Amino acid sequence: MSNYAEFYRRSIEERDVFWAEEARRIDWHRPPDVICDYSNPPFARWFPGGQTNLCHNAVDRHLAQRAGQNALIWVSTETDQERVYSFAELHAEVQRMAAVLQSLGVQKGDRVLIYMPMIPEAAFAMLACVRIGAIHSVVFGGFASGALASRIEDAEPRVIVSADAGSRGGKAIAYKPLLDEAIAQSTHKPESVLLVDRGLAPLPLVEGRDRLWAPLREQHLHAQVPCVWVDATHPSYTLYTSGTTGKPKGVQRDTGGYAFALAASMEYIYCGKPGETYFSTSDIGWVVGHSYIIYGPLIAGMATIMYEGLPIRPDGGIWWSLVEKYKVTVMFSAPTAIRVLKKQDPALLKKYDLSSLRALFLAGEPLDEPTAQWISEGLGKPIIDNYWQTETGWPILAICKGVDEAAPKFGSPGKPVYGYNVKLLDDQTGAELTGANQKGVVAIEGPLPPGCMQTVWRDDARFVNTYWKSVPGRMVYSTFDWGIRDEDGYYFILGRTDDVINVAGHRLGTREIEESIAGHPNVAEVAVVGVADALKGQVAMAFAVLKDASCLGDTQAELRLEGEIMKLVDRDLGAVARPARVRFVTVLPKTRSGKVLRRAIQAVCESRDTGDLTTMDDPAALQQIRDLVQTKNS
Ligand code: AMP
Repeated sequence: MSNYAEFYRRSIEERDVFWAEEARRIDWHRPPDVICDYSNPPFARWFPGGQTNLCHNAVDRHLAQRAGQNALIWVSTETDQERVYSFAELHAEVQRMAAVLQSLGVQKGDRVLIYMPMIPEAAFAMLACVRIGAIHSVVFGGFASGALASRIEDAEPRVIVSADAGSRGGKAIAYKPLLDEAIAQSTHKPESVLLVDRGLAPLPLVEGRDRLWAPLREQHLHAQVPCVWVDATHPSYTLYTSGTTGKPKGVQRDTGGYAFALAASMEYIYCGKPGETYFSTSDIGWVVGHSYIIYGPLIAGMATIMYEGLPIRPDGGIWWSLVEKYKVTVMFSAPTAIRVLKKQDPALLKKYDLSSLRALFLAGEPLDEPTAQWISEGLGKPIIDNYWQTETGWPILAICKGVDEAAPKFGSPGKPVYGYNVKLLDDQTGAELTGANQKGVVAIEGPLPPGCMQTVWRDDARFVNTYWKSVPGRMVYSTFDWGIRDEDGYYFILGRTDDVINVAGHRLGTREIEESIAGHPNVAEVAVVGVADALKGQVAMAFAVLKDASCLGDTQAELRLEGEIMKLVDRDLGAVARPARVRFVTVLPKTRSGKVLRRAIQAVCESRDTGDLTTMDDPAALQQIRDLVQTKNS
């Protein structure tokens, strides 16, 4: 048995001993009574009785040894700013933010919604929340008012932390009007809104509710706010993600299990060491941003780079220049970003000294072989694909470089990571597929390891029904991804089993986009599908049936309507969710029982075989879509 096989075996078969050792990586205020309480499956409680604090482990713990070392390096090519905070400075800023939040009434267990661009104050806010036991809920800054409103409604934050604007490609994007509209739409109203004024956009304040960060920070310049010790099972944050139904789910994460699972992953998977620099190009609005911009690197005593800007501005060498400047050892990005860089001058990959870099990790969407080859040859470094989800918080499949000698295989994110009892299951019978190269649903036998979701925020039933009851005949966690495993035990991910699409690494529910489009007064019915795209992995494609179809056939009128619908999606969900095209049809292909045949629409858009269509009600409906797609291609 290889070293890794034995390591993995122990993590599953001697679960409690394995994790009890790993938990020593962090500081505990009180040791736990039990390692894993799985008496009420599928709810796993890791380290019940133990007490700790995430901010203590990410910041305070390092002060004794590395107060003066870099902790947070902020680079904005949007505003041409660069700021470096040592652990001591980060500690001071986080305490100021914590004191301000407390002055606005935030207490342990309260929710704080963070709707922020990639600026240091966003990191301060996250760390300040967990410092005082408040539960943060970061909403991606690219989401617009509708998406934001549904999250405000569900999280019921006491305070919202935001800013005047984000910036993209040098153009300011005002946040405040979207935020005001979202609060107006939501039945829940925050008591206060704390605003960072970057001087990028007008910032009208609502009296009695809105407060500016800068003067409040001045008032609390010397604040000392001790960490509030919380139970290991206390929620540290919620992060909303899309699923099959329109309403996003609040993935709820614990404190203790998350802290030591991340700490372990920094050694076994990412191979980062204290005092080094980690650079993840993600956004704090996504799970990668939570785990590997903020918490993971800081818990490991590493400096972390927070980057605001595009990968190609001022030119396609910007990221590599940062690797050189800050001697980055571990880098984490997404395949789409690499595909964007692939269009730039390849000489940019050779222009900087990248000798510090050990490996580039890529995740979030399938990594195609040409992209992997291109970047691997260009950098001359190992490229390590890893597969995981918002729900799990850290990798499910990877090559654990820290404990595994195995070489990665192109196209595969690797093998099950320690702690994850991964199975491939037949989606019809629930039977385990033990042979090589059989396609099944990627599932995880409970309990989920530490750091994974505890439940859906305030909706235990949804947690059980969505994730644990989708495979017939057994209670097992479904990732909703198809996969196969080859004869060497490497997994390959083949796409989602549900209506989730992945656009440039951003996870979107087609139902959310459909709901937004259906809000247009002239739309009677709509189907949105994900279609393969060379750059973004997938793009959304919409087919709508109109109430008043008199414009059909008039190209100008159709384009106008398409533009209106796209604007509506931009306003409602944000440009990330905007379909690549909205096409108009007189009827949607459906089964005789009235279900829209999204899979068949998708197959037609991708020029694939549609498979069995015997249940289809009206074949002419699919033909309309075929005609539209063919006109586009001809
Ligand atoms: P998110 O929750 O936004 O991180 O999205 C998770 C989903 O992204 C997974 O369920 C997969 O469908 C997809 N995904 C993430 N990482 C990978 C990967 N390395 N290879 C293929 N698909 C991936």
